[in-house]
Amino acid sequence: MSYDCTFITDLPLSPDQYSFATEERAEFATDYGTTPADASRPDVVVYPRSTEDVSAVLAAANDREVPVTPYAAGSSTESNAVPVEGGISLSMNRFDSIRDFRPDDMQIDVEPGVVGADLEDRVSEEGLYFPAFPQSAQFSTVGGMIANDASGIRTVKYGEVRDWVLELEVVRADGVVIEVGSKAKKSSAGYNLTDLFVGSEGTLGVITRATLDLAVEPAETLAGRAIFSDLADAADAIAETIRAGIDVATLELMDPLTAEISNSYTGSDLPAKPMVVFELHGRGIDAEYGALSEILDRHEPERIETAFDEERRDTLWQARREIGKALLEYDPARELEVVGDVTVPIGAYAEMVRFVGEISESFDLPIPAFGHAGDGNLHYAILADPDDNAELERVHEASGRIIEETIANGGTCTGEHGIGVGKRKYLRQEVDPGVIETMQSIKSALDPNGILNPGKIFE
Ligand SMILES: Cc1cc2nc3c(=O)[nH]c(=O)nc-3n(C[C@H](O)[C@H](O)[C@H](O)COP(=O)(O)OP(=O)(O)OC[C@H]3O[C@@H](n4cnc5c(N)ncnc54)[C@H](O)[C@@H]3O)c2cc1C
Repeated sequence: MSYDCTFITDLPLSPDQYSFATEERAEFATDYGTTPADASRPDVVVYPRSTEDVSAVLAAANDREVPVTPYAAGSSTESNAVPVEGGISLSMNRFDSIRDFRPDDMQIDVEPGVVGADLEDRVSEEGLYFPAFPQSAQFSTVGGMIANDASGIRTVKYGEVRDWVLELEVVRADGVVIEVGSKAKKSSAGYNLTDLFVGSEGTLGVITRATLDLAVEPAETLAGRAIFSDLADAADAIAETIRAGIDVATLELMDPLTAEISNSYTGSDLPAKPMVVFELHGRGIDAEYGALSEILDRHEPERIETAFDEERRDTLWQARREIGKALLEYDPARELEVVGDVTVPIGAYAEMVRFVGEISESFDLPIPAFGHAGDGNLHYAILADPDDNAELERVHEASGRIIEETIANGGTCTGEHGIGVGKRKYLRQEVDPGVIETMQSIKSALDPNGILNPGKIFE
């Protein structure tokens, strides 16, 4: 669809804050989404630098019923940030200042375009950190993380992004600016609107400032890697660790194919075997590690390596950290078509790992499986030849089967990437029609003209 967006030139924006250039618009027609989104160019890209800019754009677009899709770093995997109905791409990456850092309160106020790595650098100067960062935090932004309710390797101990958002400034579809939440650590004052905007994928309002809670850097960190000969043993050890109440800060699984793919990118020579990568934080690590190693030992690992010092810890993590990039480069003839992020109750984890293996065999598709196992998250990646329609169909059928099994096990089709375009049909499978209807009523109340990121979440 195409919209007349020339009204943008009449708004109080400087000429370098918008572009109608074809090439520039094309940059916003895709994100990391690998599902078949009807990727389309926006009619204009607008670069706000302030809340007032966002408010002026939304008020004018709302009056004319022109779609507005916020776009941050574009690292979403379900086409969440793609303006599938055209209109305005609202690029948040120039709206990127740290407004106020209050180490005494362990809080920071940031604009939405601040990149995770920059936030991390700033708060680490005061011995603080933001523990819910996704693996993409080197390039993804605070606004995108909040809008997708991202989470990461430390979620098993510290929770997801949602758990660290105290207050948000949001511009509604009609241009009105509201502040939701509180700088107080807890509040029972009315509806929890902060939580409503977190994870709403830019469909309910545009976030223009966030107050984030911060954690103190752990006194000590122990990282470790246990290599198993059998995948079921590794998966069982993970579930047992969680059920035993071991206070792990991370607990990740990599299957043999994932190790192989990672080796091909990093040049390391890890055995292509299942492995569990973990981290423990704080004081009293020795006692906690004692309990953890007992569990790992019961599942007969081939070897366990651990490290306290930073350089060695980094080496232990390298294979896991580089999977995202390794997958993109693994097979020049194929593209990453699906990056699943299903999440199940921990009791079903080992069964889901087994099921992915079964699907891989029956569909004759190599499917590397890995993930933030401690919180029940299982990533699976499927590569496909983009010109081979039969293969593409098979890939999506296989992924659909994994998601159906996840839902049957009481899990969710997306633990962290959001619904976007790619998972819309699975949301319908996961929740009752009454839930969709309730979500849609909220959407209509906040965005009656449906201008905010249309075509996402709901089919
Ligand atoms: C290699 C790789 C690794 C990844 N690892 C993880 C991981 O470990 N955990 C995880 O959760 N995800 C992960 N992701 C997915 C993705 O990086 C995250 O969801 C990330 O938080 C998205 O941030 P972004 O800045 O790229 O946002 P974008 O992709 O640009 O946008 C995300 C969504 O937020 C909306 N949006 C953006 N800014 C605003 C705003 N200011 N107000 C309202 N809505 C807004 C957009 O419209 C879109 O719907 C990974 C992706 C890649 C490519």
